[in-house]
Amino acid sequence: MKLFRLAALLALPLAAAATAQPRPAPKLVVAISVDQFSADLFAQYRQHFTGGLKRLSNGIVFPSGYQSHNMTETCPGHSTILTGARPARTGIISNDWYDQSIARPDKHVYCSEDPNVPGSSFDHYTVSTHFLKVPALGDWMKRADSRSRSVAVAGKDRAAVMLGGYDTDQRWYWTGKEFGGAGKNGPAAAVGAINAVVAAALAQPRDAFPMPEICAARSRAVEVAGGGAPVGTARFARAAADSRGFRTSPELDAVTLELAARLRSELHLGEGPAPDLLAIGVSATDYVGHTYGAEGVEMCIQLLALDRALGDFFDRLDATGIDYVVMLTADHGGNDVPEREAQHAIPAGRADAALTPAQMGKELAAKLGLPGPVLLASGAFGDMYIDRNLPPAARARALAAAVAAYRAHPQVAAVFTHQELEAARAPSGPPETWTLLDRAKASFDPARSGDFLVQLKPRVTPFFDTSHGYVATHGSAWDYDRRVPILFWRKGMVSFEQPLSVETIDIMPTLAALIHVPITPGAIDGRCLDLDEGPASTCPAH
Ligand SMILES: [Zn+2]
Repeated sequence: MKLFRLAALLALPLAAAATAQPRPAPKLVVAISVDQFSADLFAQYRQHFTGGLKRLSNGIVFPSGYQSHNMTETCPGHSTILTGARPARTGIISNDWYDQSIARPDKHVYCSEDPNVPGSSFDHYTVSTHFLKVPALGDWMKRADSRSRSVAVAGKDRAAVMLGGYDTDQRWYWTGKEFGGAGKNGPAAAVGAINAVVAAALAQPRDAFPMPEICAARSRAVEVAGGGAPVGTARFARAAADSRGFRTSPELDAVTLELAARLRSELHLGEGPAPDLLAIGVSATDYVGHTYGAEGVEMCIQLLALDRALGDFFDRLDATGIDYVVMLTADHGGNDVPEREAQHAIPAGRADAALTPAQMGKELAAKLGLPGPVLLASGAFGDMYIDRNLPPAARARALAAAVAAYRAHPQVAAVFTHQELEAARAPSGPPETWTLLDRAKASFDPARSGDFLVQLKPRVTPFFDTSHGYVATHGSAWDYDRRVPILFWRKGMVSFEQPLSVETIDIMPTLAALIHVPITPGAIDGRCLDLDEGPASTCPAH
């Protein structure tokens, strides 16, 4: 080899090292959660995206993100995304649970309420971070630099609360007909303006959305069991003032993103001396999934509309010239209606009425000669509580009988008692290798979890009555509910894809590292994901 060639070769890495200065922190973190956007939906529609989701698909892609815990619901899912902690640490074990120590008669608490507010109930509550046990990214950012601002906007209060954490400058969420919430120095002007836009839109009926070519093949009516209307052909036409129809359509995400963009502009997020956070929960995908299932024309239209809305939103951010980083993930996945799955020869069904706490409680009461409800729970799976009004001996008998009855049911995969969960070790290793006990442990809070926990077998939709409008759901310990995409994008970042599993608890330390916000060792469960495509790293050195 000629000497000059050797010198040139040697010089290359040196030159690369000399130019590889750590990049300055982005000025704005945009963290987006798409409610019920499963890894399966991302894979199915990825080739069809042309807008914001296409941009993110060409960024840094972790197609196998995991909401690794058991109760894959909105509140625990959102609680993991920006805290870096599993529900066992965030305290948000599910959307709701029973607290028999509180005075109010229903004993049923909601994850983002404050039960200490006089007169509050499960249905009428004050939105609060009361039950959240750990800080979120915005709190860590403010701890590092008090000039950082944090704004949370979502289609659901629990999404805004869990993404925003304790200290938000503005926190807004859909309350049924408009956005409600609060701002530190009063509501931003953007809120009143967007609510006027919403009121004007709601006052008008809306025609059906046009049928995108790729969605046409999915338009086919499917009968559902349990009294619900057939699904598979709706295109979101609605009457004037139909706020539920507004919510269950791309309209909700459009106004949520519009409010987020206006708040960004009004508060000059990304233009200050310290990095700012804009956390957004887009919720319509979840309402569409519950109302129509995940595999019909409705979800197709919804996801393509969301893709376009996100594209417009990013275009507006681009126009500001701000150096921003986007992270997009989901709070959980989902499962289609079992009736459509059955048409594809997929063994699937709906839970037996005998599994509901009301029916099971009644049977136990008759069998054991006990008064009262015996069993408190919000559905056919998850945390179950034995009525504390029963004397201790009766409670023990009821617990043993209830555990035995659930274990004996052919639709039940596993039942774990509080004692078994307390004794279990915290899970580690790739989340797809976890046992059912591991998954349950990740959702276990000794003070909040039930006397026992029921996990249903895969593809058992945990309700049979579809007459109230919901036909499909999520919440299980199975991977269709646990797996979500985790996508990062920043201008100038070299794209890559890492197909191995990571967890949503890894998102917070990853973003914190990018903006140079230190996280106290041991304070979280997640780890920093390296967003550098090559041998350099965006994570702190160890
Ligand atoms: Zn959700």
